[in-house]
Amino acid sequence: MSAFSKDASEPPFLQLRTREQLVLTLCICKRKLKEDMHELGVVFHMVDLLEDAAREHGLSRIAKVTVSLGEVSGVVTDFFEDAWLWATQRSDLLKDAELEIYEIEAASVCNDCGKSYKTVPDGRICPHCGGSRTELLYGNELEIDSIEGC
Ligand SMILES: [Zn+2]
Repeated sequence: MSAFSKDASEPPFLQLRTREQLVLTLCICKRKLKEDMHELGVVFHMVDLLEDAAREHGLSRIAKVTVSLGEVSGVVTDFFEDAWLWATQRSDLLKDAELEIYEIEAASVCNDCGKSYKTVPDGRICPHCGGSRTELLYGNELEIDSIEGC
């Protein structure tokens, strides 16, 4: 049901902090996110990745997951949280896992005047000079920052 495929994702960077705590950083492929931005699909993909990471590190339960969510990622926070609740209740590993979301404000830079600005609400047009040669600096990310489990 998901347009994601594992081999298209960047390899997760894993770091064990203590024997009980696992910290994982990975970036869900942004190109894929643009194509199919259905929150439930994203959450199912995350559950797959988290289950793989847990198996790999011998975790039997994940207690908390921290996610960075960009303002223009296309993911709606409320929908994402609802989807998380729905999907994690169906996973032995993730049942009752806490979800913490850091919302990242989007920013763009203008290649005509060199200034940066908040992407929302100006979008692609620079509010300083009216130029259109702008690019997004950040704000479209959806990344798992860390997971805690035992
Ligand atoms: Zn400008």
